[in-house]
Amino acid sequence: MTSIFDIANGEEHDGIDASVSCGSCAAVCCRLTVILSSEDEVPERYVRHSVTGPDTMARGKDGWCLALDRELKCCSIYDERPDVCRKFAMGSPYCVAEREDYDRSGPRLIPFAWA
Ligand code: SF4
Ligand code: SF4
Repeated sequence: MTSIFDIANGEEHDGIDASVSCGSCAAVCCRLTVILSSEDEVPERYVRHSVTGPDTMARGKDGWCLALDRELKCCSIYDERPDVCRKFAMGSPYCVAEREDYDRSGPRLIPFAWA
């Protein structure tokens, strides 16, 4: 199984682009909707509760997750980050697609409408 350590060691894996680095990214994956599971233990101030859908990570008006350190572009709750964030692999096809989409479109607000 591919791990972040394998990627950090520069090994190539199926579906992982080892040339991609979070260090040269605007943390664009932290603009995606992050659905929380019952096992996640995220600080309450970063949770958006919903009565009609699952709880999610709250986002700021700029579109990024509230838990993102805007200056450093890294997760401010790294040890407590949601499971889905732990599974989002640097250099994976999804990561690369998000980066490409962001490069094409630039920053924009993400509509989100769970009540
Ligand atoms: S996982 Fe991918 S999209 Fe997310 S910060 Fe790293 S390089 Fe950027
Ligand atoms: S919890 Fe951390 S890793 Fe997950 S989207 Fe928010 S800032 Fe990014």
